[in-house]
Amino acid sequence: MSTDGTSVRVFTSGIWQLSSVVLESAGECLIVDPAFFPRELDDLRAHVDERGRAVAVAFTHVHWDHVVGWQTFPEAEVVGSEALARAIAEDGDGEARRNLEKAGAFDREWYVERASPLCWPKAMRALGDGDEVKVGTTTVQALALPGHSADGVGLVIEEARVLIVGDHLSPCEIPFVDDLAAYRATLAKLMHTLAWIDDVIPGHGRRLTRDEALTIAKEDLAYLDALAQAVEKKSFAGANDMTLPRGDPAIMGPRHRENCVAVGLA
Ligand SMILES: [Zn+2]
Repeated sequence: MSTDGTSVRVFTSGIWQLSSVVLESAGECLIVDPAFFPRELDDLRAHVDERGRAVAVAFTHVHWDHVVGWQTFPEAEVVGSEALARAIAEDGDGEARRNLEKAGAFDREWYVERASPLCWPKAMRALGDGDEVKVGTTTVQALALPGHSADGVGLVIEEARVLIVGDHLSPCEIPFVDDLAAYRATLAKLMHTLAWIDDVIPGHGRRLTRDEALTIAKEDLAYLDALAQAVEKKSFAGANDMTLPRGDPAIMGPRHRENCVAVGLA
């Protein structure tokens, strides 16, 4: 889509329908979660070169499928949440290092060859809640979204009424929970933000209208509320019987059980 001089294009990767987003304004480009396979990254590079120059790469969070492509844009500043900037700066930090190892293991398993070895950027600009990134004549605002991961950050492109939400509000998957209370608060925050948004880009799956995103937010919150109730009652049986908001039970069932472990129900 494009509104006066601002264009927002989504590229969907072959890995879990991961969304990479290119925002272009006045010849400057922000690339969000550039991913994943080398030929997909070549396509992203070609698109950016056609539109202008890459000024920033943003990570929505630390997870490995979202962070491997930044080296395709070595000239761009890398931005992400304060927690992620800290994790990267502390060399050898557990979460950042583990994610790089997982990406490497995936590449080995699927014979993915890359021009240079996977690594984190040397420096990254930390975005606190409400901080802004200038791209051409447009301003993008950071939204702290912990819950799926402690370092989650969403991006609001106010001019285009677009919201990029990382691994929340996905039409493909149930919520994958790191911190239950934080995730529920994040969904409440997203529902509030959606009031002035037309177009939602989830980290996995197709773009959503506001109403579709609101429906998913409500379903996900109902699921997490039920999970919280099961925790309160220490009801292992209740957690097992829970209806999942979406997805193939054979695929999402094990993820639900991981959620149960994460919240102490196992
Ligand atoms: Zn994730």
